[in-house]
Amino acid sequence: MRDRLYRVEAIVLKRSDFGEADRLLTLYTPDLGKLRAIAKGARKPSSRKSGHVELFTHSALLIAKGRHLDIVTQADTLDAFLPLRENLERLGFAYYLAELVDQFIEEAAENSPVFDLLLHSLQWLGEDATAPALLARFFELRLMQYVGYRPQLFSCVHCGAPLEPVDNYFSADAGGVIDQKCVETQREKVAEHARDLQPISLNALKAMRYLQTREWVSVRALRLNAETHTEVETLMQRYIAHHLERNLKSVEFLRELRASVSAGRQA
Ligand SMILES: [Zn+2]
Repeated sequence: MRDRLYRVEAIVLKRSDFGEADRLLTLYTPDLGKLRAIAKGARKPSSRKSGHVELFTHSALLIAKGRHLDIVTQADTLDAFLPLRENLERLGFAYYLAELVDQFIEEAAENSPVFDLLLHSLQWLGEDATAPALLARFFELRLMQYVGYRPQLFSCVHCGAPLEPVDNYFSADAGGVIDQKCVETQREKVAEHARDLQPISLNALKAMRYLQTREWVSVRALRLNAETHTEVETLMQRYIAHHLERNLKSVEFLRELRASVSAGRQA
């Protein structure tokens, strides 16, 4: 049979028990997107594969095409992100990043910028100088951009005018910021496509713009006060929940999501 075997590099997004001694892996690859494969015998203590298919591990894999599920036949660790594993808080953030990617990316949808973002973020998470919560906010904004949900933070989503440096409004439903003028003068029109309108402070808007447009090497030096950080975190959580909910209209995706959430709880 031709092309029965293929090589990929992958990050293990999720793993769950399968059968007696196997693991079902959800892998994220730069060229093939998200895929699933079985690591046979990976739960046996004697398995040579198990260490190379741990959660979040970046590995080089040789995979055999199967009739139903593909099978990992060879695995070699490229990066185990060891510094990350020594710190429970950072490990918790790694779960969060992997879960976000798993939920926003559908199977076999190639998206190499997301792969690079995840790979680099796992490396940065292990560095002492990294504030994990700040990295999570950076990751959220970048991920939204790479999956086509970039929030509009520079002009009003309703009228298109550049935003004034004042407090404005934010709506996940509308896809970004709406200025005071539109909210005050066209409240009914605005309400049609911005059912979740909420205030956004100038500080939070500036922080989100910075996170959206700068590279991590600049962002990492950012020192947000707790109040601003919490505001950005809350806005982004609502934004993410809004877009996941919209995707949940697809029944298939709903099932995937439930499976990933329950596997996440078990892990
Ligand atoms: Zn406007």
